Amino acid sequence: RSKNLGRSRTEVFARDTHIVRTGQIQLETDLRKAIENEELELFYQPIIDLEQGRTIAFEALTRWHHPERGFVSPVDFIPLAEETGLILPLGRWAMLESCRQLRAWQSSLAGTKDLFINVNMSAVQFLQDDIPATVAQCLAETGIQGRNLRLEITETALVADPDGAAECLHAIKRLGPTLALDDFGTGYSSLNYLNNFPIDCIKIDRSFVGRVDRDDQSAKIIRIITMLADTLKMSVVAEGIENSEQHMMMRSLGCRYGQGFLFSRPLPQEEATAHLKASLK
Ligand code: C2E
Ligand code: MG
Ligand code: MG
Ligand code: MG
Repeated sequence: RSKNLGRSRTEVFARDTHIVRTGQIQLETDLRKAIENEELELFYQPIIDLEQGRTIAFEALTRWHHPERGFVSPVDFIPLAEETGLILPLGRWAMLESCRQLRAWQSSLAGTKDLFINVNMSAVQFLQDDIPATVAQCLAETGIQGRNLRLEITETALVADPDGAAECLHAIKRLGPTLALDDFGTGYSSLNYLNNFPIDCIKIDRSFVGRVDRDDQSAKIIRIITMLADTLKMSVVAEGIENSEQHMMMRSLGCRYGQGFLFSRPLPQEEATAHLKASLK
């Protein structure tokens, strides 16, 4: 964070840090209230089968409409939630709400038996929360099948305590949910992770996908990732497809699934329902 201020003189830096901190404490208080009062909302971004054009899943993305500041991006409040431990109640809420929504779709719309809901998990949850217990509780409370829930994790969740993480992931999988490795290609991306953890799906980060139509090197890397995934019997989702060239490229490089603004932005619940109805026709 201090780097983002882009100044080096210490006295300026100290003052800025103070302002940032004060603002942060207020934001922390507000976030705490927002979680308690359920002022957070989930948006749902469709994940598409690139060959058939069907929506096969939604990724649940948390939105916070701050009463004074307006829309606060998850890029800003998720790190804050992680630093303050608020990610635990937030994460539990997001998982339960996602399962409830999937349940609602499944009970009202035919053809949704195989629809997935993807929920993002923070590394902090792996270290501090009992995720299998939370998963079990969400499944019991909503009655959805475990196999319809997919947890998105990043490599950061695995580095701090690989043995503990592996145990946790296996415990989750025994309950039915599957696992996606999010933002693949940006973190440590050690092939060890694919080998040592029970991953079902790789999500190629949008920094690769966004260049694939212009940069031969990215295309080559993506090709290797999809071949590797095939060999390991994992599916591949391309994140951040924004134009039809990228769509075509990703398909030809062996990527079966994708999400991005070309297909749909993350949608509020009612619009996601309308999207789903149209996709099922
Ligand atoms: P993510 O899990 O990688 O989610 C994908 C992000 O890419 C979303 O940003 C989505 O709106 C954005 N995106 C999707 N398609 C496109 C596209 O075509 N172009 C561009 N430029 N962006 C696209 P969002 O919703 O702002 O979320 C940012 C990050 O915040 C997420 O990245 C995830 O890491 C985190 N996050 C969001 N909700 C939660 C949550 O409930 N729990 C946790 N732990 N993290 C969350
Ligand atoms: Mg994600
Ligand atoms: Mg991602
Ligand atoms: Mg990403």
